[in-house]
Amino acid sequence: MDIKSLYREIVNEHNLHPEHKHDLDNPTMVLNGVNPSCGDDINLQLKIENGIVTDAAFNGSGCAISQASTDMMCDQIIGKSEEEALSLAGDFKDMIHGTATQEQKDALDEAAALEDISHMPARVKCAMLGWRTMKEMIEDLQKNGTKTAQVSANNSEVCGSCQRTDCDRK
Ligand code: ZN
Repeated sequence: MDIKSLYREIVNEHNLHPEHKHDLDNPTMVLNGVNPSCGDDINLQLKIENGIVTDAAFNGSGCAISQASTDMMCDQIIGKSEEEALSLAGDFKDMIHGTATQEQKDALDEAAALEDISHMPARVKCAMLGWRTMKEMIEDLQKNGTKTAQVSANNSEVCGSCQRTDCDRK
């Protein structure tokens, strides 16, 4: 199998059987990410404890590229620190824009299967959606702290006083 077919296989597999497409029980952050140019609409859920991404999942709908890319992103950031996750988002962006070094592509592991998107400008936003949403969430967390971390899940109500979804008072 040549490398392009292998990459296609990997993308297909993540699209057809996304391991991380489900709701988390107690996400610490939730954010909707939308790519109007294609109609991709994801709801990204992260659990960040003591600076480490301990869990990541998503729901929503969209094209094969957006779904596969978000699933790969979740795969890559679980167990990583906030800084490592942000660094991966930078590596991915560089790869999609065709400027990544081999070292950066190696860091991305399976997500490097989306490298060809750099030759498909119309699909760049699809591939970037999950990574861009994750970056926005972690940067917001670092800037504003956990108290104001944005929680806007479709189905998880946020307590008005403590901003938590798992609060009994809401
Ligand atoms: Zn798309």
